[in-house]
Amino acid sequence: MKSGIHPDYKKVTVHCACGSSFESGSVKDELRVEICSECHPFFTGRQKFVDAGGRVDKFKKKYGM
Ligand SMILES: [Zn+2]
Repeated sequence: MKSGIHPDYKKVTVHCACGSSFESGSVKDELRVEICSECHPFFTGRQKFVDAGGRVDKFKKKYGM
């Protein structure tokens, strides 16, 4: 086996557009995705924008809007 032929596969933190992050394996130092298991309707069983609306309400309450 030659050394250096395999990419350095390591743990990275994946950042999703929904704000959540999780660990995964990649050859890159950091990953950014637009959808993940936290916000994808396939995994959550909900529509993404329904959850996004809840986030907006929390934001408004927090800042007294
Ligand atoms: Zn997400």
